[in-house]
Amino acid sequence: MGVRDIYCVICGITTSRIHHYNNDIKELKKILKRGKFNVPSSGKYKTRLGKKEKIIDDKLKENYEKFIKDFDKLKNNFKWCDDLYIITENKLINVDKSFHLEDMAGFSKNRKYYTTEKDFWNEDEYSIKSLCCHKSCYKLLLKKLNYKLKIEDIENKLDEMSLLKSYGSVVNKYKGEQDFPWTWMILNVSSFNSFERLLNDNIKLKISKNVNYLMDPLKNKINEERILKIWKPIVNKKKILKKDRPSPSESATLYDVGKIKKGNDGNMYEVVINKNKVKRWKKK
Ligand SMILES: [Zn+2]
Repeated sequence: MGVRDIYCVICGITTSRIHHYNNDIKELKKILKRGKFNVPSSGKYKTRLGKKEKIIDDKLKENYEKFIKDFDKLKNNFKWCDDLYIITENKLINVDKSFHLEDMAGFSKNRKYYTTEKDFWNEDEYSIKSLCCHKSCYKLLLKKLNYKLKIEDIENKLDEMSLLKSYGSVVNKYKGEQDFPWTWMILNVSSFNSFERLLNDNIKLKISKNVNYLMDPLKNKINEERILKIWKPIVNKKKILKKDRPSPSESATLYDVGKIKKGNDGNMYEVVINKNKVKRWKKK
């Protein structure tokens, strides 16, 4: 099993030190140098190439070369993605260079193994249940919502890859792949693409607005707003529940007599009927 991308639980963008766009750009340079490309097959495998070749039109070639230059200028803006925290059940850990990226979406250091995907949390007794996030994203929640992310707060909202259901419509389209499709997201074209396909369809390349969602949220307003929109309801709900009464937050009138639920104070409560014939929570 190879190393797979680790996504930031806060923003839904990849965190690991693998940036697939480098390979994509290398591939594009090769194609342009050759001056022609193999036409993609029209079958159901969209990225498969046929034997037929096509010469690249001069105008299109110029546009693709400009895209490579624009892209090179952009790359420095993605460095924030390499600065990470690991969140365990009781610690916030700075991921420095001494951490190794492991198979199955984990990090290791000094024989400690941090598993960041929910699917593998209970794999064995040696791995430490963890989440991974960008430092910038963690700091954003702290600065703007006065909130420190904890596993227990969001555990039951996460899917098996430790991702929330939604990160906004644009990011949703690209997140969750084993290899995050940076290039296709930046170009705002469908996932599972190839430059041969874009060339064949005469599509000019342009850095799209999607790139905002790949920028440091402490510096980019659009990304900041996207992330806060996701997290405000989560954080608010948690704060309301916390300030709430000792019994369960939900009204006893919603349940049948005898229903037992855990209260906000950690004790168990049961629905009973009082002398006024009103349902209420009674500590067990
Ligand atoms: Zn993030």
